[in-house]
Amino acid sequence: MDRRTLLKRLAAMPLLPTLWPYLSFAAHKAPPTKSAFRRVRFGDPDWPSAASWDKLKQQVGGNLIPVQFPLAACEGTSEGAACEDVLKNLDNPFYIGDQPGLTQTLGWANAWTTKPSVYAVAARNAGDIAAAVNFARENRLRLVVKGGGHSYQGTSNAPDSLLIWTRHMNDITMHDALVAQGCEGKQRPQSAVTLGAGAIWVHAYDAVTTKGGHYVQGGGCTTVGVAGLIQSGGFGSFSKHYGLAAAGLLEAEVVTADGKIRIANACTNPDLFWALKGGGGGCFGVVSKVTLRVRELPEFFGGAIFTIKAATDDAFRRLLHKFFSLYRTSLFNDHWGEQAHINIDNSLTISMVSCGLDDEQAKKIWQPFLGWVTSSPGVYTLKAPPIVATLPARSWWDAVWMQQHHYPVFVADSRPGAGPNDVWWTGDAGQVGQFLYAYESLWLPASLLEDDSQDRLVNALFTASRHWEVELHFNKGLGGAPADAIAAARDTATNPAVLDAFALAIIASGEGHAYPGIRGHEPDLIAAGKEAAAVAQSMNELRKLAPNGGSYVSESNFFEPSWQQSYWGENYPKLRAVKAKYDPEGLFFVHNGVGSEEWSPDGFTRISEPSR
Ligand SMILES: Cc1cc2nc3c(=O)[nH]c(=O)nc-3n(C[C@H](O)[C@H](O)[C@H](O)COP(=O)(O)OP(=O)(O)OC[C@H]3O[C@@H](n4cnc5c(N)ncnc54)[C@H](O)[C@@H]3O)c2cc1C
Repeated sequence: MDRRTLLKRLAAMPLLPTLWPYLSFAAHKAPPTKSAFRRVRFGDPDWPSAASWDKLKQQVGGNLIPVQFPLAACEGTSEGAACEDVLKNLDNPFYIGDQPGLTQTLGWANAWTTKPSVYAVAARNAGDIAAAVNFARENRLRLVVKGGGHSYQGTSNAPDSLLIWTRHMNDITMHDALVAQGCEGKQRPQSAVTLGAGAIWVHAYDAVTTKGGHYVQGGGCTTVGVAGLIQSGGFGSFSKHYGLAAAGLLEAEVVTADGKIRIANACTNPDLFWALKGGGGGCFGVVSKVTLRVRELPEFFGGAIFTIKAATDDAFRRLLHKFFSLYRTSLFNDHWGEQAHINIDNSLTISMVSCGLDDEQAKKIWQPFLGWVTSSPGVYTLKAPPIVATLPARSWWDAVWMQQHHYPVFVADSRPGAGPNDVWWTGDAGQVGQFLYAYESLWLPASLLEDDSQDRLVNALFTASRHWEVELHFNKGLGGAPADAIAAARDTATNPAVLDAFALAIIASGEGHAYPGIRGHEPDLIAAGKEAAAVAQSMNELRKLAPNGGSYVSESNFFEPSWQQSYWGENYPKLRAVKAKYDPEGLFFVHNGVGSEEWSPDGFTRISEPSR
């Protein structure tokens, strides 16, 4: 059968959306050789015996569990109490995080859909992780690691795999004066916090900020996993001031492919340490804990929130010009982060945060711009009264304080036993249990803010926004950040494009809970195709501004071309060398991860010799 006939036949099958990218990728990759190394699948004769699994179970203190797939309750139907219960819970990221068989994103059209592993080691310590790593290596199993489960690209799930699930490794310990192991006499003691790999950021902020009165650089979304974000590079709302989350890593405990529990810091295994700082999760080993730098907290954090709609295209362009003039003169600094959205309906949504400014200082910055807007009432309309306000920085992640002061910014986990700070931002609610159609990102260099480039910037943003809404995440570009934050980020594996970018542009689309085979909740693949094309057109307009801009590994296109260059730029060859040293046989595989070129798209078959 030729390829065209095969595709025609497959087109009639419901599985095509899942298989399609694999087929198209496979066409570009060399076929496996006869002697290709293949990992073992469930049902294969080489799949480990029940006795072998029992032995592993004993080694991990009984914490080997068969993985349930909650969505199985909905197979072929969406009716019945069990299914309705699961669908309702898909609104709750804490529920999803508690399921070893689920992920926070349920899938991505024509790319992947979430699938449970066969077994999971619900690890309690590095010893459990080492036992699982050894078992997977010795039995040629596909190994998957899941912390917070927030990978957009589906890198923390795979069928027929053994999962190392770190959810329960969530201890948090503060240190007043920490020196990394082996760095005695070389590093000054500093404030730090050690977090289990399965901890999530809201619990880190609770310990370090709400209870401790200090700051640790982590992620914006409260339920993202600590170890996953650090290995991505990682940005939070205040990264314009504090820098990359990965740059705050002082030490990691990590289990490498040989089953050894290693320490990685600036003095011990420094090459592995560097790779863990932004080289991508699930590629170099399994991190069991991380120790991060603790910083000073300013007195105030705050926000500027409003949407302005322009009456005409011309008025919208003028609005964008006015905003970027303000941005360049007054917001392009370490006080201001988060987002501006440029919308197809000629509206500009500002949802920015401030760091280290009081109420008066923050209002003074926005006043001339807002005055200009309100002076032309027929041309510009504010959708609601603008909010420019600050609050005590220590209360930023304090859900109880927010409730007492009537700020409805959080949604709480309402299940019995949930903690008072088990909350997520209302603004992130739309991403819980979502199904993606497209997601692309691009760093925009700060030179675009110069007087002679602003026209190009505004024109490109305007044109891009005719296809799809453009989000500018100012906190995810370090242009305008303090010199020490930039220097620390330079010493990570993240694409150096981040260092002088004023923002990361993100363009994305998707729908709510959807999964193939659930009646009434099937992914809408027609809409997905249309919207993905619009997202691509929109991003292409921005690529004209920054052809080599690079993309943030964790918030990027599943189908990213030249992903090695996009995610890591000139750092990629060094990352390959670290991979070859610590994982020469490629035990750790993730889609578009370092060294994944050597594997079939599903990570089961080696398609080229290991690079050594
Ligand atoms: C709703 C949402 C909001 C987000 N917000 C932000 C944000 O504000 N800032 C930002 O920078 N990013 C953000 N991201 C992206 C996120 O930071 C990355 O996807 C991150 O890798 C997720 O980590 P995780 O542990 O939650 O996810 P997982 O899916 O569990 O893991 C992500 C990757 O890391 C690997 N990994 C996880 N734990 C370990 C470990 N212990 N050792 C080795 N590898 C491991 C996994 O194998 C996987 O490849 C967001 C993502 C989502 C879905």
